[in-house]
Amino acid sequence: MSKRDYYEVLGVSKSASKDEIKKAYRKLSKKYHPDINKEADADEKFKEVKEAYEVLSDDQKKAHYDQFGHTDPNQGFGGGDFGGFGGFEDIFSTFFGGGGSRRRDPNAPRQGADLQYTMTLSFEEAVFGKETDLEIPREENCETCHGSGAKPGTKPDTCSHCHGSGQLNVEQNTPFGRIVNRRVCHYCSGTGKQIKDKCSTCGGTGKVKKRRKIHVKIPAGIDDGQQLRVAGQGEPGVNGGPAGDLYVVFHVRSHEFFERDGDDIYCEMPITFVQAALGDEVEVPTLHGKVKLKVPAGTQTGTKFRLKGKGVPNVRGYGTGDQHIIIRILTPTKLTEKQKQLLHEFAEVSGSVPQGEHEEGFFSKVKRAFKGE
Ligand SMILES: [Zn+2]
Ligand SMILES: [Zn+2]
Repeated sequence: MSKRDYYEVLGVSKSASKDEIKKAYRKLSKKYHPDINKEADADEKFKEVKEAYEVLSDDQKKAHYDQFGHTDPNQGFGGGDFGGFGGFEDIFSTFFGGGGSRRRDPNAPRQGADLQYTMTLSFEEAVFGKETDLEIPREENCETCHGSGAKPGTKPDTCSHCHGSGQLNVEQNTPFGRIVNRRVCHYCSGTGKQIKDKCSTCGGTGKVKKRRKIHVKIPAGIDDGQQLRVAGQGEPGVNGGPAGDLYVVFHVRSHEFFERDGDDIYCEMPITFVQAALGDEVEVPTLHGKVKLKVPAGTQTGTKFRLKGKGVPNVRGYGTGDQHIIIRILTPTKLTEKQKQLLHEFAEVSGSVPQGEHEEGFFSKVKRAFKGE
């Protein structure tokens, strides 16, 4: 079954604002929440809506989706995992809660941080794509303690000061009476846990820095500034939450004589004035190998030719661009005596004014301009 477009799922246009997306999500998630809606497909619909919102509400994920749609070349990396759905409260706390003032359960699963990696590609690598291994330094769960931070064989205890909530009530006497403030528990740094016997590998943090090799498939047609999301290759989640994502941002080097504009390639082709005047068949370099091009007699400098399908494959798989060739006619700078003599003869038989209606028109205009007519 093909995946529905996220915008379609939420019933919003591609240009919808963040607020419109949020509103649409609120309405639909209420409608399909399994606690409320007992229809058989409510579960599926709810998940679909949630997934669409998770992508469209995240600037980075949205940009990626707008660029690649559902065709994520790296979907094989345990991606597409949006977890189960929490209670009704959970989902709406982000909307209605006042952020910091609302109590957050320190034991709730949280997604790991996203990572960004900049990669430089040659012009050809970007055009044709490639598979490569990236070495990314990132935090990983400590293997000795499996991320708990406690020495193997022991377990973290619930913090005896905050009883696992990660927050402490601080009472203050003021002239207006007693005020109770909630503060982050400084005994456990808000984790709600206390570790008596710390794991010696990670020192109780549960995390270690590692250089990790990640295999990445770069799609053909990627362009400078575009990015690729490698799902699940960011930092590990907290309390069993999903890992973050890795974003690879591409920088593409320029080419000696090809210039790229989207899926089209532009290049200049120098020919001699003799080739231009008499016509010729020339070999033109393209990204896909050499191609023969017929230059008709009387070709002017600046004339453009198009080689269909010799450009860049579209990154979303919509065909291939074209190559455009712009003719530049070279005027010889060094002439032998024999060549000079031939050109003088040529000038004599042609007259001092260039041949052809177009040029005559042009030169008579210039003459008129000098005479002030
Ligand atoms: Zn505590
Ligand atoms: Zn450890």
